[in-house]
Amino acid sequence: KKITIAIDGFSSTGKSTLAKQLAKELEYVYVDTGAMYRAVALFAMQNQLIGPEFFDKTGLVDFLPKIQLEFKFNADLGFAEMYLNDENVEKQIRTIEVSSYASKVAEISEVRAKLVEQQKEMGKNKAIVMDGRDIGTVVFPNAELKIFMTASAETRAQRRFDELQEKGDAVSYEEVLKNVVERDYIDTHRADSPLVIADDAIEIDNSYLNREEQFSAVLELVND
Ligand code: C5P
Repeated sequence: KKITIAIDGFSSTGKSTLAKQLAKELEYVYVDTGAMYRAVALFAMQNQLIGPEFFDKTGLVDFLPKIQLEFKFNADLGFAEMYLNDENVEKQIRTIEVSSYASKVAEISEVRAKLVEQQKEMGKNKAIVMDGRDIGTVVFPNAELKIFMTASAETRAQRRFDELQEKGDAVSYEEVLKNVVERDYIDTHRADSPLVIADDAIEIDNSYLNREEQFSAVLELVND
């Protein structure tokens, strides 16, 4: 039986690692919705619509019809990469700068409406694992399995810091922690679709579970 799996939670809780692993095991499609918000943020940066001291929200909304987002599966990597107007932006969207701008563009209702519509379309035939902030609440309120991932801000900052270090990004742990805390605040306080746990979601606190334990726990839920 093919189902829809919604994985939500705060940033850097290991949502995408788990989602990717599940999709691979079940031969489902994996969709990283954060990548879509990141690509919109990158577009805004490239078009001088957002910066450290400005954010032209109406300008971005006007540009929305010109923003085309697509996932293309990369067989070598084993997952789909994000394309913005036919350009592979997978690497560019993973910087800490794009992370902060992504949560800012995610506050705009018109941006959310556009991406949510596209996400619903992608999940029409089920057999999908989608991760984000509003998947179990807004995108697929009827998903058969909903997981909500949590972990302390420090655990998450350390995880993100290690990843960025590996990529050679010269950023301090303090900066990463500040970014994590800021994004939590924005995600939980925005007017449109704030991050909340769905009533029927199963909460997994990954401060206490390693990757394998977490994976087998979720796999058991899928097979239930
Ligand atoms: O998951 P990731 O950290 O890549 O997401 C980047 C940002 O996009 C998040 O901080 C959040 O503000 C926003 N986002 C969202 N809704 C989603 C996925 C991501 O608002 N479904």
